[in-house]
Formats: sequence, structure tokens, C-alpha cells
Amino acid sequence: MRWIALLAVMLIAACDPVMPPRIEAPQRAPSEQVSREVTTLAAVVERMDPVLERECRNRTRGVNCNFAYVVDDGSGRPPNAFQTVDRDTGRPVLGVTASLLEEVRNSDELALILSHEAAHHVEQHLARRQRSAMAGALVMGELVALGGADAASVRRARDMGADLGARVYSQEFELEADALGARLAYMAGFDPIRGTGFLQRMPEGHHHLLSTHPPAAERIALIRRVTAQMRGS
Ligand SMILES: [Zn+2]
Repeated sequence: MRWIALLAVMLIAACDPVMPPRIEAPQRAPSEQVSREVTTLAAVVERMDPVLERECRNRTRGVNCNFAYVVDDGSGRPPNAFQTVDRDTGRPVLGVTASLLEEVRNSDELALILSHEAAHHVEQHLARRQRSAMAGALVMGELVALGGADAASVRRARDMGADLGARVYSQEFELEADALGARLAYMAGFDPIRGTGFLQRMPEGHHHLLSTHPPAAERIALIRRVTAQMRGS
């Protein structure tokens, strides 16, 4: 996996001059357009990072709140944002693909995207999803084993259970991340409602019970409600 490393200003903003070791330096010079977008991202991160770190510390215990920010420059990757944890340093990583940077139209959209991913970390969704997947695997595996199935069928049932378990909370997690994300973006001085622009432009996928993302209209309505509350308080 290739990463475009971020600018010095972002590392300073992240309060730690050490680049996580698994994030490599750029392998080619970024195009002029990409470097302009990275500059915008750096400015958003500079404003958001202190708020994300402070709120993460206030709302969690024993969780690493020293966020690192990366751009995934893998060619052909669709517009996407993600949250993960650096295995070597334990730092939470907020990432966007280069194609996403091309899609966003203003700082508010970028701020909402980053704060949504940060909210996944603050709410510990990765760990909660993992626990749910393990529980799903256990239940399905045992059910099939009780029915006297062979080892291969039990294994298949476990995989299916893990998949179901991982999905079961995903819509709830997305809405939680939207609500907290809107608060975080607002606290950092951004306009979360203006930030929903990218959600409005997102093509609606087919939605069914196990779809990982709630419909965009539901997400936008929630962000509007939360923002109105913040403005009123
Ligand atoms: Zn999400």
C-alpha cells in the first residue's frame, strides 16, 4: 500500500514530529492539483486536530488520541475515507483517498469527513465490530455443530456468522459517527450542514437490511438536527 506522506504542518498539528513507520514517503511528485488539495487538507487538519484530540481524551479512557492523517494515493482507488490504527505505534489513523480529495468542494465537507472518521475511533467502533463478529462466528458455528455438521460446514457457518456479526451494528455505527462527527466539526468552527454537500452528491446505493451505510437522506437529516442543537445551545 502506498501513502502520500503529509506535510510538515500536519505532523506539527498532530503534536508529534514522528511519522508512523508504516506510512511511506511519496514515491512520485504529487500533481499540482493534488498538492493544492493536500494544502487544503493540511489547513483543515490544523484546525481540527486540537479539537479531535481534546474531545477524544474527554470522552474515552486509555485510548490513544494522538491522531495521524494520511492520504492514500493508490491509483484507481475510489473516493473513500477510513479510520484505522497503526499497528506499530498504536496511533489512530484518519485517511482519505486522493480521489476523495478531488471530489470534495470545500473545507466544511472535508472537515465533516475527517470528524466522522475520528468519531469512529472515539466511539471505538473497530473494537466493537470485532467483538460482534467474534460473537456471530461463535453462535453460528455452535448452532451448525450442534446439528452434527462436518468441520468444513462449521467453518463456513463461522465465517458467515462473523460477517453477519460485523454488519449487524454497521448502520448504527455510521449514524453514531455522523452525530458525533457533526459535533466535532462544529466545535472546530466548521459548518456541518454545508459539509453534507458530498452526501447529497453521493450516488444512492441499493439499501437493504444489511447494507453497511444508512440512506444519505437519513444521515443528512441527523446532521442537520445535531447542528441545530449545537447552534441553539
Ligand atoms: Zn463511517
